[in-house]
Amino acid sequence: MIIKCPVCRGLQVGRVGSDQYYCWNCYLEFNFSRGQVNLFEVGEDGSLLATERPSGIM
Ligand SMILES: [Zn+2]
Repeated sequence: MIIKCPVCRGLQVGRVGSDQYYCWNCYLEFNFSRGQVNLFEVGEDGSLLATERPSGIM
């Protein structure tokens, strides 16, 4: 399965966890849970901050 970034639709996506992905283009982490996309901004200290899901996804 090819994972595309849900925000920019790019393929510069790396896997950072069992079900967690990182877009090098947007600097966002995301995962898929129950068919939904959850987006996280990565703070300077590495913490994850839930961020708004852009409209038009899924
Ligand atoms: Zn992206």
